[in-house]
Amino acid sequence: MRILTKFGGSSLSNAEGYQRVKEIILENKDRTMVVVSAPGKDSFHPTKMTDLLMLLHAHIEYHIDYANLLDQIYQRYHKIEQVLNIQSDFNQAFNTFKEALKKGISKDEIASRGELFQAILMSAYLGFEWVDAKTIIKLGYDGAIDNKKTEEAILNHISNHQKVVIPGFYGATPDGSIRIFERGGSDLTGSILCQALKLKRYENWTDVDGLYVIDPKYVKEAKPIEKITFKELRELSYRGAEVIFQESLIPLEHSDISLIIKNTFNKDNKGTLIAANVEDKETIITGMTASKDYVSLTLTKDSFIPLSNILKQVFELLNTYKIRTYHIPTGIDSLSLIISNKKVKDVYFDLLESLHKIPGIQSASFEEDLALIAVVGRNMAKIPGIAGKIFSTLGDASINIKVIAQASNEMSIMIGIKEEDLDRSMKTLYHAFYSSTS
Ligand code: ASP
Repeated sequence: MRILTKFGGSSLSNAEGYQRVKEIILENKDRTMVVVSAPGKDSFHPTKMTDLLMLLHAHIEYHIDYANLLDQIYQRYHKIEQVLNIQSDFNQAFNTFKEALKKGISKDEIASRGELFQAILMSAYLGFEWVDAKTIIKLGYDGAIDNKKTEEAILNHISNHQKVVIPGFYGATPDGSIRIFERGGSDLTGSILCQALKLKRYENWTDVDGLYVIDPKYVKEAKPIEKITFKELRELSYRGAEVIFQESLIPLEHSDISLIIKNTFNKDNKGTLIAANVEDKETIITGMTASKDYVSLTLTKDSFIPLSNILKQVFELLNTYKIRTYHIPTGIDSLSLIISNKKVKDVYFDLLESLHKIPGIQSASFEEDLALIAVVGRNMAKIPGIAGKIFSTLGDASINIKVIAQASNEMSIMIGIKEEDLDRSMKTLYHAFYSSTS
């Protein structure tokens, strides 16, 4: 069963990284498809390759001499080539790039070379072939992926038994122009390939042991999550858990592909398995995340005006300010909207004035400096008393809960507290749910 492995920039930032990655790939003969990111940071290189390439583009645009910068870019790959004695087409590809720079190439194409050079070198080091992403990742002129054309191209260019390395992060529009994805988008290249080739296992190798039940910045000894569903992961990511490029999850969930986050620097650790369905009855809370900088906007209304009328107008108003609403706890004659503080700050007085002009609104007030905690667990709905335990745990620690919302599928509970209580809340909840169960 063919496995796709994707290695992030931190796994491939130097020659030692290449050695580690080769060992991982050769350990399992099914690891025949490899997607690579551009070199990331390490102790000798404070800047990611993609950032250097973007900087190179800026130099060209502002007519600043870029010879030194270009040499710095060259040396990062050349060093790997030299140390590991790799015979590859890298020099040729780099010369083509140099010539193209003189003639003028797009910012996206410049940025994409980070992954291209990596794929050329890595394929030679592994003895695999490499396939240029521009021939298989087909995009529309708007940069959106053309799924049908992409699938056809992948099936045309990659055969069943081929061992290949593919540069992540970019594709080509119908006229052959290169377009990059959003930062971190190499994960998406891996997902697209898995889907087209009907693979069942996608290993995403990075520099952490997986997704943690709680961010180790709150609890140092927190452990990685062993298994999590895509739905749970989405709930956690919505509140700030970031290990994987969000868009890359959609093709995986739809095609029932398992994603495993693994640590290149600790390869024997189990990692985190993410799948559409996960069988286990023991896990109560799969994970908790938190994010800061919210405000609660509380409105009271005249009793004879339907809530739906008010909501409609408030939403329209918030839309005009491009303010996103995260939750809307409602009462009979009052409602609160949890919104992002960043957006509100600039328009605070305007917004208040406009709210007061909506017929039926009696009062509008803001409560600032809120943090939201999401407690997520696929088994929570089946076990009574979880919400009670969360609230009593926080209550016993004298933490005042400002907002409570439970998702309708009962898979997540969201709690709003004051930002100053966040650290203590996370630690308290962790100890209540994990110290006793783990
Ligand atoms: N190299 C790109 C970045 O730094 C894409 C990726 O790593 O996925 O964002």
